[in-house]
Amino acid sequence: MKEKIETIVKKYETDHIVKKYKDVDISLYLERKESPLQIVVVADANEYRTILYVGKVTFGTCACTGFYIYGRCKHIYAVAVKLQNSQINKRTEANHSPRPTHKDSM
Ligand SMILES: [Zn+2]
Repeated sequence: MKEKIETIVKKYETDHIVKKYKDVDISLYLERKESPLQIVVVADANEYRTILYVGKVTFGTCACTGFYIYGRCKHIYAVAVKLQNSQINKRTEANHSPRPTHKDSM
């Protein structure tokens, strides 16, 4: 799944988008695991509805004109980066389960 997320980030990455995507304000972000092999993200990025499919099927779509004309846009990229970060955070939480304190080490 990590590789698939990287695929979608790379797919929509251009110099222009990398410069611009930080201006994107994501007001809605819904991440749903449709199956163990498929994540669907529905987001509102600068008030454009952006949808990402990652897994068995990997693509993004957005309601903005940039996507309509070029087939890519900063909104999809911003949401893909957010998804990537959220997956990293989940992994980190899992790895940092609280350790038992060693009272006898005192
Ligand atoms: Zn867009």
